[in-house]
Amino acid sequence: MCTRCVMDTSASDICFDEHGVCNYCTDFLRKSGHIIHADPATKQGQLDAFIARVKREGKGKRYDCVVGVSGGVDSSWVLVRVVELGLRPLAVHMDNGWNSELAQNNIANLVQGLGVDLYTHVIDWPEYKALMQAFFDADVIDVELLYDNAMLAVNYQQASAHGVKWILSGSNQATEGMSIPEDWKWIKHDQRNIKAIAKAHGDVRMRTFPSIGTLQYVWAEFVRRIKWTPILNLMDYNKFDAMRALQESHGYKPYPYKHYESIFTRFYQGYLLPRKFGVDKRRVHLSTLVVTGQMAREDALADLQGIPYPSLAEMESDRQYFLKKMGWTEAQLEAYLGRPAQPHAAYANELRLWNGLKDIYLRVRR
Ligand SMILES: [Zn+2]
Repeated sequence: MCTRCVMDTSASDICFDEHGVCNYCTDFLRKSGHIIHADPATKQGQLDAFIARVKREGKGKRYDCVVGVSGGVDSSWVLVRVVELGLRPLAVHMDNGWNSELAQNNIANLVQGLGVDLYTHVIDWPEYKALMQAFFDADVIDVELLYDNAMLAVNYQQASAHGVKWILSGSNQATEGMSIPEDWKWIKHDQRNIKAIAKAHGDVRMRTFPSIGTLQYVWAEFVRRIKWTPILNLMDYNKFDAMRALQESHGYKPYPYKHYESIFTRFYQGYLLPRKFGVDKRRVHLSTLVVTGQMAREDALADLQGIPYPSLAEMESDRQYFLKKMGWTEAQLEAYLGRPAQPHAAYANELRLWNGLKDIYLRVRR
């Protein structure tokens, strides 16, 4: 394990320097130092200029930005702050059938209190369930690719439909900036990979499922000029302060861990990922908090000693919920956990296309 953060060899490409410090926290600090330790006045100036631009470009339109909300702290805080800064957002939420009641209530309280319009895209559950089943049958690691891809698609669709140029997201360097190891996830704009996995396992067709491929993404960003912007990077963002303000002023109820607003996400991160893939995503989140000085390393280590669930009872309750919702028996879950993982790259995919376009982009920018 790294001596500065809490990343360890469960990330297969981790390497350590002579002091036992890993490449993950080193790269993170190198890439994001200018964001985290930026001079407050410079940051404020950048934020003011950005807000002025969004307002200017949104003149005469019903909304000037889209804010994707999951019910989590990061995206909730974005919504609160942009309203305070005088923007007119449309809140966009995706309901994939797994949202916790707590998350639904948090979103409802938030938009009501702020007087913001909410667009909720409800995904067709039988279709989504069949897609999830295909991903489980394929034994690939990134089952959340389905949700993440659909969420991107819905946000771009809504921005496009309202002529809005800005999608403001809650992703940020301060609390989740450290890179997720490559072998823990798959690229999120890979519509071809989703289709190939769905076809190979149960011949599932995507009829209403919103999805986006690499080329559509490039079209939206560079031709339509709809910009996906992590606005929290322009602010002094501290998750604990944000949580306190949300609770005190916006009727917000906290979750025990990050991303626990969706029952599937917490079961995936707290049960399936560790048991089938040997991956504990808390390492990345906790490491980020440690190296940005928001948490002591000893506290992070103590957190990791416990199961990735507030209690065994809650883990068991989610397990039962998962079995019932997916229509699985105990034996099916055991069989799934026992099978070896298979790579996403075993199916048709857009990795080469994505990497090729990224190379071109970086070359042009240079
Ligand atoms: Zn490290």
